Amino acid sequence: MNITVIGCWGAYPEKNEATSGYLVESEGGKILLDCGSGVLSRLQNHCPLEELDAVVLTHTHADHIADVYSLEFAILILMQIGKRSKPLDIYVNGEERGSFAFEYPDYVRVHSIDADTVLTIGSVKLEFSETVHDIPCFAVKLTSQEGKTFVYSGDTGYCQALIDFSRSADVLLIESSFYDWQAGKMEWHLTAGEAGKIAALAGVGQAILTHFPHYGELTQLAEEASRHYAGPIRLAYCGMQVHI
Ligand SMILES: [Zn+2]
Ligand SMILES: [Zn+2]
Repeated sequence: MNITVIGCWGAYPEKNEATSGYLVESEGGKILLDCGSGVLSRLQNHCPLEELDAVVLTHTHADHIADVYSLEFAILILMQIGKRSKPLDIYVNGEERGSFAFEYPDYVRVHSIDADTVLTIGSVKLEFSETVHDIPCFAVKLTSQEGKTFVYSGDTGYCQALIDFSRSADVLLIESSFYDWQAGKMEWHLTAGEAGKIAALAGVGQAILTHFPHYGELTQLAEEASRHYAGPIRLAYCGMQVHI
């Protein structure tokens, strides 16, 4: 399973970058997790849109879905000119299904997911767990044929469910929207210290911090997480690749 960070900013993209978007490639499947602002353009550095099999959207905040309607048009055009042969499968939170305004069912097939959904896309199994956020949101766990596990937190406040869901994951990609000095200001997102605590309690193999704030020194996020988690911690960056 190969994971590529397409975008790692919270809220809005920095210059020439993107908000949430993560490409997961495995034998027989290319999956995009979230499709935020700037993702559609940058995704094409790593995956021709003809080859994308599915998009999984954790929730409907703009920094996770802003480019998905442009992607619908890309699929429409690629199919109309014969460059792509099949519609794109888009998986959305069932509770938020009504919020989406896809217009072309011949080109995108929209599927609802809930906490009990188990999907297989290519050779990867996907499972979901509700997070603590101000709108319905899922964390996603992907398990490869070889049994390697990758968990993406989506957006979340601190919760035991994410610790249980991430138990012994090989890689935990976890949001770190805030510095520790901001603790208590926002219950729907994590501080870096909380992200580190979750990584430690879940016993993950490595933690990658993402969904960054637009101020301060990002290296401080890794330092704050490392006060709780002794394993390897890295900061996501656009174009980062991880193989598990
Ligand atoms: Zn977000
Ligand atoms: Zn959000």
